[in-house]
Amino acid sequence: MDFTNKTAVVTGGSRGIGLAIATKLAQGGANIAILYVGDESEGIKAKEELSQYGTKVEQYFCDVSDFEASQKVVEKVIEEFGGIDFLINNAGITRDKLILNMDEKDFDAVIGVNLKGTFNMIKHTYKHFMKKRFGRIVSTSSIVGLNGNAGQANYSASKAGIIGLTKSVAKELAGRGVTANAVAPGYIGTDMTNVLSDKVKDAMKAQIPAKRIGTPEDVANVVAFLCSDEASYVTGEVIRVDGGLAM
Ligand code: NDP
Repeated sequence: MDFTNKTAVVTGGSRGIGLAIATKLAQGGANIAILYVGDESEGIKAKEELSQYGTKVEQYFCDVSDFEASQKVVEKVIEEFGGIDFLINNAGITRDKLILNMDEKDFDAVIGVNLKGTFNMIKHTYKHFMKKRFGRIVSTSSIVGLNGNAGQANYSASKAGIIGLTKSVAKELAGRGVTANAVAPGYIGTDMTNVLSDKVKDAMKAQIPAKRIGTPEDVANVVAFLCSDEASYVTGEVIRVDGGLAM
């Protein structure tokens, strides 16, 4: 897939699935702006890693749940890169607990980053894409956004919300050459899932028809397709990347 002269903003692009997406797009020739919120050294490391593909790469500190901060970063990227073509809403957090033990803060934090963060980034790039008459928005939902999951009410609600948000923006912008789609990963091996016990990991693996844990690259391949010219007639779609787990 050829992404020459395209610019992608990847939230949470310094590690895990986000870094795999940024890598895949850079390999195709895209310029990359990664947004990170944690350790600056991770952002610098990711920038160095991505720079090997010869495209422009920058990292920006930005908490996507912060409306003003995400607006400033979008404006800065547009100024420094000359525009944005792909918005990849990948940043996400978990605060897993049964509702019985889940307090308001656990709920608000997850909704704030996962759902409001996705809204913030879409809101701030919306006019830019409209004027450009081009844009690809790909947001990371989850199979638990489709099916729910005990112990993940906050996370599942945020990921289900992303699906509603995606379909709405897809309808609003389809006539402007802008597509909006979501990927719904199943169980992917990253820092987010490495915290699970071996017992839980083995139990989950046993349930996956493909009999393996997914890789960040499995997700990145689908995201890259959704950004490509070949996917110009695909919008408002949710694609599971789960080895058949949520079939
Ligand atoms: P990781 O925990 O490895 O990475 C999460 C990323 O999100 C990090 O890059 C982190 O930035 C970033 N992030 C977190 N909070 C913020 C914030 N407030 N502002 C900006 N960036 C933020 O997770 P994964 O790579 O596994 O997950 C990526 C996405 O995929 C998430 O949305 C997740 O919910 C989703 N997903 C993952 C699945 C899995 O099995 N792994 C399954 C289904 C969905 P930093 O590096 O700076 O801390």
